[in-house]
Parts: sequence; structure tokens; C-alpha cells
Amino acid sequence: MLKIDLLEIPVKDIVDSYLDAGVNGVTGYHGKLNIRPPYQREFVYKEQQRNAVIDTIWKGFPLNVMYWVQTKGDSFDSPDAEFEILDGQQRTISFCQFCANEFMMILNGNLKTFLSLTEDEKNKILDYKCMIYICKGSDSEKLEWFRVINTAGEKLTDQELRNACYPGAWLTSAKAQFSKPGCAAYSLGSKYLSGSPIRQDYLETAINWIRQEKGMASIEEYMLTHQADPNSVELWNYYSNVINWVMALFPTYRSQMKGIDWGVLYNKYHSNVYDPTTLEDEVRKLMEDDEVENKKGIYEYVFDRLEKHLNLRTFSESQKNKAYNKQGGICPRCVSMNKPTKTKVWDISEMEADHITPWHAGGKTEDDNCQMLCKTCNREKGGH
Ligand SMILES: [Zn+2]
Repeated sequence: MLKIDLLEIPVKDIVDSYLDAGVNGVTGYHGKLNIRPPYQREFVYKEQQRNAVIDTIWKGFPLNVMYWVQTKGDSFDSPDAEFEILDGQQRTISFCQFCANEFMMILNGNLKTFLSLTEDEKNKILDYKCMIYICKGSDSEKLEWFRVINTAGEKLTDQELRNACYPGAWLTSAKAQFSKPGCAAYSLGSKYLSGSPIRQDYLETAINWIRQEKGMASIEEYMLTHQADPNSVELWNYYSNVINWVMALFPTYRSQMKGIDWGVLYNKYHSNVYDPTTLEDEVRKLMEDDEVENKKGIYEYVFDRLEKHLNLRTFSESQKNKAYNKQGGICPRCVSMNKPTKTKVWDISEMEADHITPWHAGGKTEDDNCQMLCKTCNREKGGH
């Protein structure tokens, strides 16, 4: 069950053992608090906001409540307790940096560093009590709660929230492979994935692909299932299979290949046999085809043949008007099918433009290939 405690923790405890190890994370609170987890993006906090935090503490005014997640240990004060900051990262880093003498600011009208303060002044800051909610509970409860509080404060991405919920050896291993700047997942697949490792986009994408392959309902389900695994070898192997499959099928790289849901295509089609030369011929023709407006969709189209991926060109309003006037408002298909409506003069709003010769048979979106059909006929003809 979700358990949330409100504690008052003095600044001096939080700044104890403060360590900023760059991409390897920022820690504090006797080394038990993950202030910024390794390989998570850094928030940009302006000098003005940073100084406002110190000024608030200096004056003894309340800072907004902060949120920690307990990631290890049975209770708040058990010796093996560990925590991660969910909300309040920037405020915490601000006072940690000030107490570590890393910046100076104007206090009482004078430029001060922490070391230049009197003992009384130092203690005023060190004894200041931060209001902190510490949360412990099942992962799904925590995630739900995190999403609610994440609407205020310094926003985390969905995957950063999930990472806070499912800590352990599996996550540590997965982050080393998918979340470091220049990580293995980036070296192998940056041409094919969008986003950035440090914002957890690679990790999120890879898990989202593999969980579909495994028939799991959500990214959370995959992370929960594997939370206690000693490493993330399965995820890595899967990811490299996907990227290698793409490179083997489409050896000619095009910029449109970035950001496609390759794992979804891999899951559906990797057991089929395709000839890369045939694929390349087809891709090249479609890339050169002016009728195809969504070039990215080509890579899905060559697998499932659904024209909706291609966003084929449609007739303009003036082309429609021209065809309508030429037809005198009569539907030519009603005539050729000898329907009772063959002599009906339709309003243009009751008609839809149709390619006389469809795209897949070589028809273009040009005046002489345009006819206006009544909606019934257009639907019967097949929705073009
Ligand atoms: Zn008709």
C-alpha cells in the first residue's frame, strides 16, 4: 500500500556528502539520496531562480514541499534506506551548491559566498528545515501518484518517472546501454531513432517495442517483470536485432528512416523473407513519386501495402470545381451503372473527387484524371 510521510529535514543533513559527479549523477543526504540519477537530463535552472531559493532560505520563508521516493530499506530511518528526488531537484542542487561554496550572491546588500558568512549566518541556512514528502509503495501506485504531482514543479518525462519507480540492477544495466550520452544504443541506432538518450527516449522506445513483441500491455509491465533481473541483456539483444534487421533490409540510408517505429515493423515482419535489392528499387521509385507526400510512410507501405501511409496527393478545390462544372453536376458512375439517380443534378457538397485511373495504376492528380462522384458511388468504388 502506498505510504506517504511528511518529514522536516534540515539543509545540513541534505548537503552532507553532497557530490556532483556529472553524468554519473548527483548525490547527497549522507550519500543516501539520489538528487539527480545517473544519465538523466540536466534541468536548466537560471541564476535568478537559484538565487531566489537561497534568498527564501536566508529569510526563513517556506520553500514548496519536495518529494522523495524511497528506493531501498523498510522505513525512512532504516540503515539501508535510499531515496531518489522526484520533485525538488533544482531547489536541492541550488542550496547544495551554495553550501559547497560554488557560487556567490548578494545577501543583506553584500556579495557573499557561504564561507564568508558568520557562523550564525551559516547555521541559519544549515538549520533550515525542508518539508519533504517521502513516498513508499507498490510501483503502480507510485507511478500514478508521481504523474499527479509531476504537473507542478520541475517536470520529468514519462520514462524518467518510470525509472524512479522500478530501480534495481536491471535498470542500472539498461541505463548504461540506453541512457548515457554516446551509449551503445546511440552508437548503433542514432540514425534510426529520434530523441536523445539522456532524456530516456532510447530506453522508452526500446522497451515499448519489446513489450509489444512479448504481448505486454505497457512499458510498466515490462519494467516490473524484469526489475529484479541481474542485467538488461534481453532488451539489448532485442534492440540490436531490430537495428541490424533494418540495416540489412535497407542498406541505403535515407534521412526519412529516422524516427520510424522500426521495432513494430520488426515484430510483424522479421520472420518473412525480403530481398533488399527489390525493396530498394521500390523505395527509390516511391521517393521520386510526386504523388507520395509522406515519404516516411514508404517504409511501412512496402510491408503492408496500405496506401494510407503514403498520404497520396488529393485534388485541389479548383480542380474539383472544374470537373464539377464540366459534368454539369451529374455523377458519371450513376450514369454508367444506370442508377435511378443517373439524371440527378447533385450539389457539389454532395460529391467527392475521384482519381479516374487510381494511383497504383499510374494515375496522377491532374485535371484530366479528376471526376466528381456522388458520395455513394465514391464509397462503392473503393474510397478514392
Ligand atoms: Zn453516383
